[in-house]
Amino acid sequence: MAVMRLRPNPAVSNLRCSRSGQEHPADFSRPIGLCRCCPAPGKPVAVEYDTEMVRARLDPASPFGASGTGLWRFAPLLPVLGVPPEYASDVGDTPTVRHDRLAEEVGVELWVKNESGNPSGSFKDRGLAVGVALGAACGARRFCLPTQGNAGVAACLFSARVGLPGPLVWMPEGFEGSSYHRACALFGGEVRFVGANIAAAGRQMRAELAAQLASGEMVDISTFFEPGRLEGKKTMGLEIALFFGAIGLPDVIFYPTGGGTGLVGIWKAFTELVQLGLLPPAARLPRMVAVQSSACAPVVRSFERGLTEVEPVVSEGTIADGLDVPGAIMGHGILAVLRASEGGAVAVSDSAISDAFARLGRAGIGAGYESAATFAGLEELLASGAVRRGERVLLLLTGSHLIPLGKPER
Ligand SMILES: [Zn+2]
Repeated sequence: MAVMRLRPNPAVSNLRCSRSGQEHPADFSRPIGLCRCCPAPGKPVAVEYDTEMVRARLDPASPFGASGTGLWRFAPLLPVLGVPPEYASDVGDTPTVRHDRLAEEVGVELWVKNESGNPSGSFKDRGLAVGVALGAACGARRFCLPTQGNAGVAACLFSARVGLPGPLVWMPEGFEGSSYHRACALFGGEVRFVGANIAAAGRQMRAELAAQLASGEMVDISTFFEPGRLEGKKTMGLEIALFFGAIGLPDVIFYPTGGGTGLVGIWKAFTELVQLGLLPPAARLPRMVAVQSSACAPVVRSFERGLTEVEPVVSEGTIADGLDVPGAIMGHGILAVLRASEGGAVAVSDSAISDAFARLGRAGIGAGYESAATFAGLEELLASGAVRRGERVLLLLTGSHLIPLGKPER
């Protein structure tokens, strides 16, 4: 099968190190990895655009210039062009729904954005659609990544769509035979199992594949190890701004935080829209709230201590697989967004997540444990007064209820 011919967006002006702020040239002649300005292994870099070029390419007939269907309707603000419809026209554009019945229970104006309609069942499709496309446009021949589940599935799905060999996927021990494992295999991935969580799996992967990673034979598409996944997750923020444009952005957005790509991405979208003049400079942007499981809450603990980097924790293990992420390579970026938005971070227990999952179910909302954590987090912040009655609140529901329901009872 031929690899899709994709090309970089000429409106990309440069890359920028998220830690040092140093500008780097946008070199697409080989896959983009971590920065080289910070101590090894480097820090995440982000793509930046020429505002004038983007503005010239926006479709004047539609708000924010979005045209077409799926993720690439935001093409002027994505790093790769030339993407055919079958690649990602079914990704994104997920429903944002006002939920008055559930709102009555908690006393806020409650909205949910449900990501479970994405082709592999979670919001990970957004990031991997763009990450795989950008890698392929830069000559990547095969990807590898450690995963706590959904990201691995999405990486396999988009590798299949772009015409590359299935990725090498590293999952924690105990995930053998899981729905994640089977879905990766379905889309052509090759899965290995090691360690207790994604951090351990990632360490082992980088040790075993050191030679292939160094030679470029294998490209590491882990969370924030390349800039495409961030750009894909950014589309959630573009959609939120587009949807709420007429009625006003939410006061608060609750985001279930593992690696934090979506949280940083949503904020990047708002920032770019302000730069483009598509959001007023004085727009009251939402307070961003990171929700984690108290069994694994590195972002919450570091936020509470006033740190500027996230200090890794030892995870006790959580039912919410996507939140079982004991460190965050973009911790500095996550904490900066929480503070810039005057938001916060909240940890909720696994039993609160379980209860919230059941309550969402009774309200007719199918969403996974990570998503349920946002509802538990909302209740926690209502109790503390950090969220006030009557505020407009958006919960990011990141994946399908079928994923936890497909796991054995524990
Ligand atoms: Zn750097």
